[in-house]
Amino acid sequence: MNIIDGKLIAEQIKTEIATEVRKMIDSDIRPPHLAAILVGEDPASQTYVASKERSCKEVGFTSSIYRYPATISEKDLLLAVDFLNKDEEIDGFIVQMPLPNHISVEKVIESIDPKKDVDGFHPINAGRMLANLPSYLPATPYGIMQMLERCNIETEGKHCVVLGRSNIVGTPISILMSRNNKHANSTVTLCHSKTKDLEKITLQADILIAAIGKPLFVTSNMVKEGAVIIDVGIHRVISSETKSGFRLIGDVDFLNVSKKCSYISPVPGGVGLMTIVALLQNTLKAARKEIYQ
Ligand code: NAP
Repeated sequence: MNIIDGKLIAEQIKTEIATEVRKMIDSDIRPPHLAAILVGEDPASQTYVASKERSCKEVGFTSSIYRYPATISEKDLLLAVDFLNKDEEIDGFIVQMPLPNHISVEKVIESIDPKKDVDGFHPINAGRMLANLPSYLPATPYGIMQMLERCNIETEGKHCVVLGRSNIVGTPISILMSRNNKHANSTVTLCHSKTKDLEKITLQADILIAAIGKPLFVTSNMVKEGAVIIDVGIHRVISSETKSGFRLIGDVDFLNVSKKCSYISPVPGGVGLMTIVALLQNTLKAARKEIYQ
């Protein structure tokens, strides 16, 4: 069994990005600028935004965080988005999810200028992805595709089973894996909570991508010998073994599944780190106007 080392791959890509930033600075071009809107005090969101800020620093990007209380009105949040849309010093920005219940996620996403939508969630970017046109790919699926490519994992003609159909992970990764592109060309089955005989389907998977948000859901009896396993899930559980008092686990029962598979991405140290790096890559593309003029 081989570990898909998200940390190592993410570090390699960060080094490549940092080299590009250095070239921009040497040519008197300002470095890429990624901004984040953070609403409320959700601890997981604060952690994600802080690690995105740290990663920006590592590669030489400028980063800024716009914090608003959970009581902000939808109208004011839309004004905040509009402010970032118009700020020429900002190349791309994200609105960290989840948002408070009184705010429409769809309205907020649709209010982001697609040119600055480095999360790739705007319907224009989603539609362009579907049409195989240049677009900002959603960060997690983009990160997964690069993991597979950089580990030289064969995808062509393979049966890829995706667990979960969210707009940010399951649905886009199922599209990307089935594309008639190099490092894709899989035959994809997309499963969700209404799928019958799930185990029968997962047992056929050459590549199994788990994004269902249920801790340790994928057990070894659901996995074919020699399969490639990508674990997208992130769950914080209480632990007496760590200083912090908690540890992260995924959607896959790593301990047992790893004995059966050929490759597996661990949690932590897998997809999560690739997601952040993919966001940096989208921001670099935004700064260079590679997708839109
Ligand atoms: P989500 O929006 O909660 O969607 C979960 C999906 O799983 C839904 O499509 C649901 O089906 C399906 N599902 C739930 N129970 C199922 C079951 N028993 N059998 C088959 N399918 C089932 O999930 P998400 O936002 O994609 O996130 C999934 C996990 O990935 C979470 O743990 C999240 O924290 C993590 N995540 C990690 C990253 C990263 O960077 N590593 C990024 C994003 C998310 P229905 O559609 O029928 O409800």
